[in-house]
Amino acid sequence: MKKHNFSAGPSILAQEVIKKAADAVLNLNDSGLSLIEISHRSADFVSIMEKAQNLVKELLSVPDGYSVLFLQGGASTQFLAVAYNLLKVDGKAAYLDTGAWSAKALKEAKLFGEVEIVASSKDKNHTYIPKGYEIPADASYLHLTSNNTIFGTQIKEFPTTNVPLVCDMSSDIFSRKIDVSKFDLIYAGAQKNMGPAGTVLVIVKDEALGKSGRQIPSMLDYQVHASKDSMFNTPPVFAIYTSMLTLEWVKALGGIDAIEKINEEKAALLYNEIDNNPHFNGVANKEDRSLMNVTFTLADESEKELFDSLAKEAGLSGINGHRSVGGYRASIYNAMPIESVQALVDVMKKLNK
Ligand code: PMP
Repeated sequence: MKKHNFSAGPSILAQEVIKKAADAVLNLNDSGLSLIEISHRSADFVSIMEKAQNLVKELLSVPDGYSVLFLQGGASTQFLAVAYNLLKVDGKAAYLDTGAWSAKALKEAKLFGEVEIVASSKDKNHTYIPKGYEIPADASYLHLTSNNTIFGTQIKEFPTTNVPLVCDMSSDIFSRKIDVSKFDLIYAGAQKNMGPAGTVLVIVKDEALGKSGRQIPSMLDYQVHASKDSMFNTPPVFAIYTSMLTLEWVKALGGIDAIEKINEEKAALLYNEIDNNPHFNGVANKEDRSLMNVTFTLADESEKELFDSLAKEAGLSGINGHRSVGGYRASIYNAMPIESVQALVDVMKKLNK
């Protein structure tokens, strides 16, 4: 039986995407060759790369003057690449600390220069998004994490500022409309809403690059990757192909507008149960609740064994919370059908009988 996959990442992909990716591993476009045994310089793969880049541009309405890159090393490598490329020598970077991933990002930036934390939600175990903070006008950039995968909070409104914005969108890219022109750089690991682990999407404003005054090793230099159309070295062909399939799937569903509406419906269904079922409590501040990672706890911990066994019986997988939060976390990314969210809600209702 196919499980209802609530894993936080790597996470659910559309079933048809997985099938098409499997077919291409055996025989790409009836070429008699596998996707993973052809040259990345072959016409077949070059067109896959172009298709993937164009779909990113189309779905997110990326303005002219931005490069779309599919790199390696995960979002974690971008934590340092961002500072390497954008933090000016003798400059300062501003960070909003909204959880474990922001903290890891700013730790890397500290290797390159002064870091100012503009605000932190650490005082309440990152259950909210700080607002109304001041942004130092002389910062090279302000770094944000749009969705906090572990704690289940999400930035609903990005700050308006003259300071360049950099955003880690690993766990909510392609889930809602964003105005790319507000950002100098966006990065996102593939393994939530885009594809399998193995590639990280970077969308970067070309004119922001080459100004840090640093010498940057080639593999970490966004300008090098942009000048080679994201083919400076052998790209992760399987991850990019599968991401391309996912983006085609999003487009066929009606694009970001359509998927955003579905995501809102799924999240409303689950949060509504959390709010109305006395056996559960939501973790995140209501106005900051993530539409991707829904965190909740049992009101009475002694019901854990019963709830876990009911969940298992219903085929629910991956709902345990992160060890730093406890309780439960249901990740309901783009590919999660509303029927699976309903299956979780039905199990929650069983405790309330
Ligand atoms: N940022 C966020 C918001 C994440 O959720 C994750 C991974 N779960 C990362 C960064 C790290 O990504 P990676 O494992 O691809 O380095």
